[in-house]
Amino acid sequence: MTATENYHHVNLIIDQGELHRSFTCTAPEDAPCRRRPPEPEERESWTAEEATVPGAACWAVEWVEAVGIEDSLRGYPDRVLASVPVTISYDEGVEIEPVALADGEVAS
Ligand SMILES: [Zn+2]
Repeated sequence: MTATENYHHVNLIIDQGELHRSFTCTAPEDAPCRRRPPEPEERESWTAEEATVPGAACWAVEWVEAVGIEDSLRGYPDRVLASVPVTISYDEGVEIEPVALADGEVAS
């Protein structure tokens, strides 16, 4: 597998009080991960020497969605991938709230 530019991100998302992971691609249409051969029957596998056209869905996202993000996060040493500062409080239950968000915005 060839490395692509850093368009691929693992995201930690709080949605309705639950922590979820996701994998996203922010590449433009002409990025290597979004190019495919023009003929549909050639799109299962191709080499860098073959002509491709832009605008396809990202193959990295397709791969990760095919096996699930849990099974994709292997082969990496056990380390903290991200550490988010939080406040913690107790009001009829433990509440963790992020202090800062990934886009630099301060949590309300
Ligand atoms: Zn991509």
